[in-house]
Amino acid sequence: MRQSQLFTIPRKESPKDEESKNAQLLIRAGYIHKEMAGVYAFLPLGLRVLEKVIGIIREEMNAIGGQEVSMTALQNPETWKATGRFDDAVVDNWFKTRLKNDTELGLAFTHEEPMTAMMRPFVRSYRDLPRYVYQFQTKFRNETRAKSGIMRGREFVMKDLYSFSRSQEELDSFYEEAAAAYARVFARVGIGQSTYKTFASGGVFSKYSHEYQTVCDAGEDIVYVDEEKGIAVNKEVYTDEVIADLGLDRSKLVEKKSIEVGNIFKLGTKFSEPLNLTFKDEAGVAVPVVMGSYGIGPGRLMGTIVELLADEKGLVWPESVAPFRVHLLSLGADEKAEEIYRALTEAGIETLYDDRDARAGEKFAESDLLGIPHRVVVGRKSLETGMAEVKGRTDEETRSIPIQDIVNFF
Ligand code: ATP
Ligand code: MG
Repeated sequence: MRQSQLFTIPRKESPKDEESKNAQLLIRAGYIHKEMAGVYAFLPLGLRVLEKVIGIIREEMNAIGGQEVSMTALQNPETWKATGRFDDAVVDNWFKTRLKNDTELGLAFTHEEPMTAMMRPFVRSYRDLPRYVYQFQTKFRNETRAKSGIMRGREFVMKDLYSFSRSQEELDSFYEEAAAAYARVFARVGIGQSTYKTFASGGVFSKYSHEYQTVCDAGEDIVYVDEEKGIAVNKEVYTDEVIADLGLDRSKLVEKKSIEVGNIFKLGTKFSEPLNLTFKDEAGVAVPVVMGSYGIGPGRLMGTIVELLADEKGLVWPESVAPFRVHLLSLGADEKAEEIYRALTEAGIETLYDDRDARAGEKFAESDLLGIPHRVVVGRKSLETGMAEVKGRTDEETRSIPIQDIVNFF
């Protein structure tokens, strides 16, 4: 893409009304637009990152048998009344709205109930199970705190997968597959090193659930990390008994701030019973489906990547989620740069081409701010030497590469 065509323009100054690093940098670099507190639009560069994060999650969910759907954001109150969760006293962060006839509707804050009800006509006998259904869908939550940028939106996209199994054993085995898929997602987006599978509260139906917590000072959670074992315990369930139980050693646990980037949860029959999602077992007896739920916030993940990897110069994207792989800068050598741009693009190498008429210092500073993994500079000198300057976003040194080798280099 030609940068002269991009409608967003990087800013020199951080927005004054943002506390979090992710919102400050993403707004400055033109990746997102703040509509109001906790509500952000994704602009061309930001959307490319978000879509890449979503693409990685989608691949991993498909790999464990997930089937993608798209549920609705307007929710039927009757479905929610069956489990008692339509009540504001039970769920305190609903956004609700009304039909013209005054019927109250919910705006999706999660989808356990509608998803369970939706499955009813499709689950008849044990032969129809297990099934795994997921979506990327907008959730609305009346969050009290909205100071963490895109990590805690009042409107945000969630990947939520729901598993429908015949027995606890079948759920347990899928749960482990989902856990492995989650580990792959976090590794692929570049935060695997700092992300721990964390014991968290399991609610009524199981002793624990698991959160995926990324250790980071910008986090709102506190976890105790055992680095040797590579696991952690959320402060919420941290007692001497939760620790002995898990075979962890108190002295080895280190307190850290962290960001919950995902979670996996054994629901059992908590939703299938009240919503009457049953199947006929081999004896022909109707029994409730055993469920699990598995969430990841792609926007929160994107914000976490910024918090973890950005440096004093700006954003730093891992190749897997970067909006472009190469940032090509022309410093008064437009014809040569044009040639390189065409060659890179034809080779399928995603390139942002800074073809604007701007000073070198400005182009370099903006390139650092945008955080694209590789920078290629073609200047007047290149025309004499036939060499371009190539530098990784976090490298100190640049390398000279013959212009005709650039495509191969990438
Ligand atoms: P938290 O404890 O941070 O409020 P949660 O436990 O309510 O989150 P879930 O309802 O389980 O989160 O949502 C699944 C995933 O969706 C979370 O692990 C997180 O990645 C993401 N998520 C939750 N709330 C938000 C939000 N307000 N903005 C962006 N992503 C979110
Ligand atoms: Mg949580």
